[in-house]
Amino acid sequence: MIRINCPFCGERDHSEFAYGGDASVQYPALDAPAEEWHEAVFLRQNIRGKQAETWHHVSGCRMWLVVERDTLTHEIHSVRAAHDGYRRALDGSTETAAESGQ
Ligand SMILES: [Zn+2]
Repeated sequence: MIRINCPFCGERDHSEFAYGGDASVQYPALDAPAEEWHEAVFLRQNIRGKQAETWHHVSGCRMWLVVERDTLTHEIHSVRAAHDGYRRALDGSTETAAESGQ
């Protein structure tokens, strides 16, 4: 059983969440060639070990999260809000992503 510590709701069973996919994918510009979109949408690595994933708290706060999970052991290393604005609000920071260089 996987337990995910939602930063908004607290620790919940993974059955409350929907898996959203690899969080490390960088999507191309809207006018990028079809090959780049094909690679971004359909081609994935099958990582053995720690991987960043997006999860949607469907039966809770309905927020998107980035969960760093070990695909071998299912151990969860970190959970954070996927959207910069919510992440900054939780951290109490007023610094924007551009200001921090991220
Ligand atoms: Zn939640």
